[in-house]
Amino acid sequence: MCGIFGIRGHANAAALTQLGLYSLQHRGQESAGIVAYDNGRANGIRVMGLLGESFGPRELAQLPGRTALGHTRYSTTGSSTIENAQPALVAFRGGHIGLAHNGNLVNATELRQDLEANGSIFSSTMDSEVIVHRLARSHATSPEAKLAEAIEGIEGAYSLLVLINDTLLAARDRHGWRPLAMGTLDGATVFASETCALDIVGATYVRDVKPGEVIAVDASGIRTIDRGRNNPLHRCVFEYVYFARPDSRVFGGSVARARRALGRRLAIEHPAPGADFVFAVPDSANAAALGFSEESGLPLELALIRNHYVGRTFIQPTQAGRNAKVKVKYNPVREIMDGKKVVMVDDSIVRGTTTRGLVSLIRAAGAREVHMRVSSPPITGPCYYGIDMADRAELIAAQRSVEEVAGEIGVDSLGYLSLEGMLNAVPDGPDGFCHACFSGQYPTRPPTVPPGKCTE
Ligand code: 5GP
Ligand code: MG
Repeated sequence: MCGIFGIRGHANAAALTQLGLYSLQHRGQESAGIVAYDNGRANGIRVMGLLGESFGPRELAQLPGRTALGHTRYSTTGSSTIENAQPALVAFRGGHIGLAHNGNLVNATELRQDLEANGSIFSSTMDSEVIVHRLARSHATSPEAKLAEAIEGIEGAYSLLVLINDTLLAARDRHGWRPLAMGTLDGATVFASETCALDIVGATYVRDVKPGEVIAVDASGIRTIDRGRNNPLHRCVFEYVYFARPDSRVFGGSVARARRALGRRLAIEHPAPGADFVFAVPDSANAAALGFSEESGLPLELALIRNHYVGRTFIQPTQAGRNAKVKVKYNPVREIMDGKKVVMVDDSIVRGTTTRGLVSLIRAAGAREVHMRVSSPPITGPCYYGIDMADRAELIAAQRSVEEVAGEIGVDSLGYLSLEGMLNAVPDGPDGFCHACFSGQYPTRPPTVPPGKCTE
């Protein structure tokens, strides 16, 4: 998954982009980058790892200009290289193209083979590079027509920010898979994956980029091409469940409210009578646990503490037991757990490794009974549309019943929110969401290259 941010018409374009990317860091921690355009020149800097660790005043000084866009990238498999970091930046006959992509294309391989057969040379394994080539080849006159032409025939999920010289372009796929919001700041136009990035730079939210829409911003103002009439919406429901920040609005709805409603619904579907209290696996399940507590009347305890300094570079200790990694990240409060019947709320179970480790830590802290409640349904299939969800074989619920999962993770009881319950709890549900990873109802054929190999 990824986070994208762009701004046009501001003297501090690159600095504001950096700030915006800070609040999109949760969408991608593997690499980050910014491209800025200034008077016929475009500059780009891409770094591995967290933005805050490798992006300082020296880097910003190399990114002058009033138009900039940036990207944070997440991918756990394969191609974690600087070549695959974004934004892409290329020179072409018409000047410069910068591109930042969130989502996964499902027919990138075929499109790439076509381009290669016609002489194109690729410099990364990213699906997004296909769009850069198609943009450069387009003979359409306006930048927005170039982008509309470039994305015609591309299948899958994309929210895009593109710079063609000092024109900033934004686009979303016709099904609205990934979010993208538009805002305004001091007369400049701003785009961001989530509204929390508009907040941090002080921009005012204007509206979402519409599914199928291409927007161009240049010196003469804002123009749009609407390509999205009568298309079914496939907004990613997992953005509400886990991915987006709770202080954001995505798809026009509040993430915090969505999670709280998911937690309330979970308490109705799977109450835990006789339990002493409920607690969240922080931070992603905090709002769901609050909702569960409100609905069930069980007190909410802060019974599990998370270490916020555990990064991706964390080196596993040599005495690595099964729980070593989980243990470094989470620690239960023994004084709260000891002798109690507890309800642990998490937003999702993916592989089950974190969950299994947590359950044994909680038992070791003295909990007498552990009842797990999950604010989404069992994940039974991979995501082809931008969330790095693991292969089917690694998904604990792919081949197991709920009882078998409960046995695997070692809980006294396990309740997952139903598909129907989830879709009815999120804003603007139950229709218009992609829930393929839960339901197996994939809106497209699978990609020809497995996700992770050629993604984001
Ligand atoms: P598991 O028990 O499956 O190993 O881990 C479950 C935890 O992973 C949950 O706390 C959930 O919030 C988190 N999670 C869910 N989806 C993702 C994801 O796409 N990436 C990462 N890093 N964590 C996830
Ligand atoms: Mg979590």
